[in-house]
Amino acid sequence: MIRFGPAGLGPVKEAEERLEKYHCLGLRACEIAFTYGVYIKKEEDALRIGKRARELDIELSIHAPYWVNLNSSEKAKREATKKRILDCCKIGELLNAKVVVFHPGFYGKNKSEAFSVICGGVREIMDSIRKNGWKIKIAPETMGKVNVFGSVEEVSQLVKETGCGFCIDFAHVLAREGRVDYEKIKRLFPQKEWHCHFSGIVYGEKGERHHVSTSREAWVGLLKNLPGDKDIRIINESPTLVEDSVEGLKIFERMRK
Ligand SMILES: [Zn+2]
Repeated sequence: MIRFGPAGLGPVKEAEERLEKYHCLGLRACEIAFTYGVYIKKEEDALRIGKRARELDIELSIHAPYWVNLNSSEKAKREATKKRILDCCKIGELLNAKVVVFHPGFYGKNKSEAFSVICGGVREIMDSIRKNGWKIKIAPETMGKVNVFGSVEEVSQLVKETGCGFCIDFAHVLAREGRVDYEKIKRLFPQKEWHCHFSGIVYGEKGERHHVSTSREAWVGLLKNLPGDKDIRIINESPTLVEDSVEGLKIFERMRK
């Protein structure tokens, strides 16, 4: 099964209305963008939005703030990163969100140590999640710039070593590698549940430049290559995210016939 949805829910007071609109359009996933801060603050709002999403069969996820780096050379920044991600988990749990997607970090000066430092950070966050008895998972995202931590190999290794979730951003993979090796991705992520990002992308030698609207060819290229035996959420991050999600859904439904 594939669920489509946009990377945005909008303001708290319009959230339920938006979810109803998404539902009517056939969308069954939605990522709440806490990219500039955790803007759902009240517990009662989170519970109410989560309940409505459940009723409408829309699976929620969260995108953590951009200002995070588990591999910062400064301890205070690493601690602030963990706190920001855990703040998302706390409200995400009330929202009944499946995953909190985050950008793991930069390579920093010592690229060879980046993996173990980031892995340690992921473990600590997961320990806190466990202690709190939360169900929510954290999902490091595959990144689109070559000088940023987050190749598919690195994210897959984090999953193997810590049991964390993951977010495969297919636009980022394309930008980083110049192509998408679906067979490799299937090998690296044998898990049943895939959380994915997708949109059109402009990229150069160093990888990602910016997201653009998703072309029909791009949708077809993705959808014909995704495995059929998994539960997949595809979150669209293009500038026309709702329209693109609906387009993806329609193409998928036509391909299935
Ligand atoms: Zn992201």
